[in-house]
Amino acid sequence: MTARYETVIGLEVHAQLKTKSKIFCGCSTRFGVAPNENTCPVCTGMPGVLPVLNRRVVEFAAKMGLAIDCEINRKSVFARKNYFYPDLPKGYQTSQFELPICEHGHVDIVTGGAARRIGVTRIHMEEDAGKNIHSAADNASYVDLNRSCVPLIEIVSEPDMRGPEEAVAYLKALRSILVYLDICDGNMEEGSFRCDANVSVRPVGQEAFGTRTELKNLNSFKHVQKAIEYEVERQIDVIEDGDKVVQETRLYDVNKGVTQSMRSKEEADDYRYFPCPDLVPLVLEEAWIAKWKGELPELPRAREARFKTQYGLPDDAAEVLTSERDLADYYEAAVAAYPAEPKKIANWIMTEVLRELNTAGSRAADLKLAPEKLASLVRMVEEGRISAKSGKDILPELLESGGDPEAVVAAKGLAQISDTSALAEDIDGILAANPKEVADYKAGKTKLMGFFVGQIMRRTKGQANPAVVNKLLAEKLK
Ligand code: ADP
Ligand code: MG
Ligand code: ZN
Repeated sequence: MTARYETVIGLEVHAQLKTKSKIFCGCSTRFGVAPNENTCPVCTGMPGVLPVLNRRVVEFAAKMGLAIDCEINRKSVFARKNYFYPDLPKGYQTSQFELPICEHGHVDIVTGGAARRIGVTRIHMEEDAGKNIHSAADNASYVDLNRSCVPLIEIVSEPDMRGPEEAVAYLKALRSILVYLDICDGNMEEGSFRCDANVSVRPVGQEAFGTRTELKNLNSFKHVQKAIEYEVERQIDVIEDGDKVVQETRLYDVNKGVTQSMRSKEEADDYRYFPCPDLVPLVLEEAWIAKWKGELPELPRAREARFKTQYGLPDDAAEVLTSERDLADYYEAAVAAYPAEPKKIANWIMTEVLRELNTAGSRAADLKLAPEKLASLVRMVEEGRISAKSGKDILPELLESGGDPEAVVAAKGLAQISDTSALAEDIDGILAANPKEVADYKAGKTKLMGFFVGQIMRRTKGQANPAVVNKLLAEKLK
């Protein structure tokens, strides 16, 4: 059934910008303070106040536009989007409508080995609204305006995605770019990176798009995936039953795993958009744009390509290690401390370190073990001073404590015996004690090599360096 329909997805992403102060007033954007502590007459919407645009917001929005190849409009206009809600004391949200700051960009994604280019229609700047707090204990509702006027950019995609995997890949790419630019912390759970998904289906081969629904409450990549999967099935069922999909806003219920009708979809006309008379049109000077362009850091795709050429990493490692800026920085700091083995360091991070991070539910930025210390652990293994197994055994402890691998190896007596003369003595002892096996080996029973290695390991309590033991044994048994 699903094979007869094609899924069409367009995403609207809201990214909260990491500025110190709000978009139209000097109030702090800091979180975790008492309700309404970060407010003033402007962000509480008192009559007669005037907004003053935060220059940083413009810089951050333009930088995002430059990073995804948008055209930067030299003139853009703020508009009022009118609606009533208790968390919006002005009765309108100051946003941009007809002339946004950025237009016509794109983001390249790869899913299942296939590369695709997703169009970005526009990026505009706007203010966030406050928050309603409903208290069952007092049987009352409160309004907290700390978030009112916190700067956002909205990034609107073309309806270019053809399935939930592409939607998630696009979101991850956007989030990664925002974090690399250091303009958004990208935290989905806390809502500083959030998305609404517009979803429709159409019979394969039909050119016209089907009617779309807009899904809300998608605060993790997993929820985006699940909500779209559910919605696609639902819409197909509706059509197969001979009914029509209704254009509406639907809320994803995380516990039930379903989307539920929330309200009929409002049209742009309903918002009575008009240019904000309190803010003059924003005109960007060429010199600013050139400066911002020059300040762009190396972006994820470029860094991924460089990791492949510079360190010889395979595709998947380069992709994973550059997906998070902190992780990529961590990797490069470790390589700088032990430049001889970039691939080995990548392997340790990809397997051992990321597994520990995932189990702990933490991110690269939280790593207590300094990258230089990880490098010295990898070096000890590579130089045969400890076995790979010992290295893996002590890594969780090191990650937790941030301790020194040299000290832990010494304290636990894990150092391997690589000293040739010491091992040669042990080997002579073993060979002398097993004359029959030695004769059999020399007569062609080469499988006995394993037996000799096992004996040495037992005698040295597992601390002999197997590579050295093998080499010495081969020489002595020639
Ligand atoms: P609005 O602002 O009312 O939500 P827009 O026309 O600006 O509507 O579109 C919002 C988002 O919906 C865009 O990301 C766009 O790509 C997407 N979209 C538009 N039509 C469809 C459709 N038929 N199916 C899926 N997504 C769509
Ligand atoms: Mg919308
Ligand atoms: Zn304020």
